[in-house]
Amino acid sequence: MPTDATSGAAKRGKSFAHVAEASWGKGLSTLLRIVRMTLRHPWQVAITLVSTFIAATLQLFIPRLLGRAIDQAQGVMAASGGTVAEQALWHTALTLLVVSILRGLFTMAQNYYGEAVGHQTGYELRLAFYEKIQRLSFSYHDKVHTGDLITLGLLDLDGVRMFFATGILRVVLLGVLIGVGAYLLISTDLVLGLLSLSFVPFVAWRSSVTQLRLRSTWLTLQERLSVLSRVMDENLGGIRVVRAFAAQRHELKKFDRAKQAALELANERVDIRVSNTSAMNFSFLAAMGLVLWFGGQKVIAGQISVGTLAQFLTFMTILQMPVRQLGLMVNSFARASTCGTRLFELLDTELDIEDAPDARELVISEGVLRFDNVGFRYEGAGDRPTLSGISFEARPGETIGIVGPPGSGKSTIAHLIPRFYDVTSGAITIDGQDIREVTLQSLRKVVGVVQQDAFLFTTSIENNIAYGNPWARETRIGQAAEYAQLHNYIIGLPAGYTTVVGERGASLSGGQRQRLTIARSLMLRPSVLVFDDSTAAIDAGTEQRIRAAMKRFARDRVTLIISHRLSSLMHADQILFVEGGRIVERGTHEELLALGGRYRALYDLQLRPDDDRLEGAA
Ligand code: ATP
Repeated sequence: MPTDATSGAAKRGKSFAHVAEASWGKGLSTLLRIVRMTLRHPWQVAITLVSTFIAATLQLFIPRLLGRAIDQAQGVMAASGGTVAEQALWHTALTLLVVSILRGLFTMAQNYYGEAVGHQTGYELRLAFYEKIQRLSFSYHDKVHTGDLITLGLLDLDGVRMFFATGILRVVLLGVLIGVGAYLLISTDLVLGLLSLSFVPFVAWRSSVTQLRLRSTWLTLQERLSVLSRVMDENLGGIRVVRAFAAQRHELKKFDRAKQAALELANERVDIRVSNTSAMNFSFLAAMGLVLWFGGQKVIAGQISVGTLAQFLTFMTILQMPVRQLGLMVNSFARASTCGTRLFELLDTELDIEDAPDARELVISEGVLRFDNVGFRYEGAGDRPTLSGISFEARPGETIGIVGPPGSGKSTIAHLIPRFYDVTSGAITIDGQDIREVTLQSLRKVVGVVQQDAFLFTTSIENNIAYGNPWARETRIGQAAEYAQLHNYIIGLPAGYTTVVGERGASLSGGQRQRLTIARSLMLRPSVLVFDDSTAAIDAGTEQRIRAAMKRFARDRVTLIISHRLSSLMHADQILFVEGGRIVERGTHEELLALGGRYRALYDLQLRPDDDRLEGAA
């Protein structure tokens, strides 16, 4: 049965899917950093805060005006329609209307500018996040799962973005409503005021505890959903493998397990939410009952008017919502501090591979590539070096062939030239300039690597070829395709060069994809061209034609060919046989054959007319 690739990937290294609450100190400095980011838009922030303050204050006038209106209406009825009393009622009603309209307008301004600040902060963060992802080194991506990075860029970023509207603004809104509202109630009637506020501590406590419980289950739910999306991601990515191994049942079981775990938690969250809402409603209605009871007694005793009682009840109704929202505010703080901590951790990650402070542009005079006693070890790969003592020189027009058993370090040699990773010891130079001392941009312009994995973008053939040079003329794109022996195939397609290649080039064969990636690298006209096992899916005849077509192109460049197939590299000027990260044999094809070592053995296995060997084996 296929193994559970998801858990394997998760174990490989650091994973953002493991979510932990940030420590207090760290959480606080994260929140301050978010506040500082928000303050980059001082005008919008100021308008939002002032609007929130005014809207909340106006809202507090409404119960008073309502109470007054009820008393005035009673006065009108008692005076059987006295004009002075009627005028007062009209006046109160009009004031109520104006206050409500103004409150609505300021709430609108609060929502509009609050959202605008959140979106602008989100936009800036998104840009910074994407920009950082573009510059993170390969060794970082080796450690972190892609799905976790996507979660970070979507969910965590949202947690930070919404902090202003759901956290900071609520502090102002609830502060004014609860603080000033409580003062007004108590100053009107101490006992009734305290009774009206009696539900507040319970609801505030209950709502905060519930939101924090919901939050901790949300974090676990996020982890489980992240596992679920990884299962889906791997299933879709490996759909052909799944079908070929008839592993649908295993995959369904895997998905079902992940889905079940997420569903159980989602149900648990519903239970928490429903039981909490009922408890909060009960306490609110109980407090309202008490106010009605005691308030009613006071009205009967003539101590307060009906309007004052109505004022208390309206206040309670208005206060109910913000008090419940206290929990959401606590949640917003907790969420922003966790999400922000994770997000800022990524944004603050020091780049392993970046331009040295005094980096210069790489200047190509001749184009000589040199490996000088290069050693390398992958991070977390133990003490054993992946490469050691690698030295060779390649001059323009020369081809270097690199061959060796799987895992011997051939691709690693290729990855060191454009600085996907930095050498651990020794140095790589181009025309005498250490590649660590030149800018990455200028280095990667002159080094073209045709990777083992022929990755294509979901766009036209033309755009894929011109990826490194989007302004290239059509003739140049056509010429690159001709070198790669793909031109005739492309012009035979109904849409020619504008044919869209499907997701990751799914509509092309493996060999066509590889040839397209060769054409893409040729477009850069690099001084150093590396073929990293990139002709494995191309038949020997086509490969021969590509080599012949590229003869003129390769005349003033260094070409490195990494291959398991000797026919791909036996024409090279120098062949390096790599084993266990070291060059164990070197020379031309003839010299290595004459040496009678490992290369010779490989040649005998792959190419020598083998009748006699077969007979021997029989
Ligand atoms: P193949 O012929 O199979 O492509 P190769 O000779 O190109 O193999 P490399 O890909 O260079 O071999 O790998 C050399 C060694 O480094 C292997 O043992 C491999 O497991 C290890 N290795 C490769 N990439 C990484 C990585 N990103 N992190 C840790 N170890 C790695």
